Amino acid sequence: MRKNYVYAFLAIIIVFTIVGYYSINKPVQTSFENEEQLTATDVYWSYEGAYGPAEWVNVDSSYEACGRGELQSPINIEVAKTAKQKLNEEIHLNYEEAIFSIENNGHTIQANSTSVDNSLLIEDEKYDLTAIHFHSPSEHQLNGQYFDMEAHLFHESENGDLAVIGLFIKSGEENKLLAEMWEEMPADGNEAAKILQNPINLQQLLPEEKSVFQYVGSLTTPPCTEGVNWFILEQPIEMSNEQINQFSSIFLQNNRPIQKLNDRDVYRIELN
Ligand SMILES: [Zn+2]
Repeated sequence: MRKNYVYAFLAIIIVFTIVGYYSINKPVQTSFENEEQLTATDVYWSYEGAYGPAEWVNVDSSYEACGRGELQSPINIEVAKTAKQKLNEEIHLNYEEAIFSIENNGHTIQANSTSVDNSLLIEDEKYDLTAIHFHSPSEHQLNGQYFDMEAHLFHESENGDLAVIGLFIKSGEENKLLAEMWEEMPADGNEAAKILQNPINLQQLLPEEKSVFQYVGSLTTPPCTEGVNWFILEQPIEMSNEQINQFSSIFLQNNRPIQKLNDRDVYRIELN
């Protein structure tokens, strides 16, 4: 009789040990929607030191592309070396007024779209805008030059394809379209996301000239997933020194180093 109690006790211990093991070693979420939305339960990475970009590949087995990928982002765009032939893709922007919420996810300031009214049409595939976030300084280079900042407009299609519009940001006029976002910007990663009062039409965020560099690259943060359609506008947009300094007082440096172009073409196209 007593022996049975001992066996039952042992069985309970074994069950708890197994459950405990699997709850500690839960797989890390790597879906596109969670890029740069990592929480404390996810794998830790940063922009410097032992968990910095050169070590991302070693931080988690799902980050393999960060070290061994051949189509990585960001890149230096050499304008003189862009592909001569035209890209046979029809690309249209459908941006309307939309309400955003803003959060500090520990890696960047991110504004999440609360609607699916904004989209990018590449051929017949519709990519809905999911979020905008910012890097300081810029991630991409233009002819070897960094800009003060870079904005990434994230779009995802129904079958999970990704398209990102990159906007270079240089010091100049105050950016009034982003004024409220900057006023509400959470300096601390523990603050809850805030919903902005005024809708934003991203069409007005884009520069006047719609000359764009297109290439196929990757997420610039772990897991560095490849196959991302990048569209980098050549003409930078402007923000005041105060706006740029406010962001860099929270994130002094959150840009991944330039990656090898390898065997890739960069096309120059016009956005419609
Ligand atoms: Zn980004």
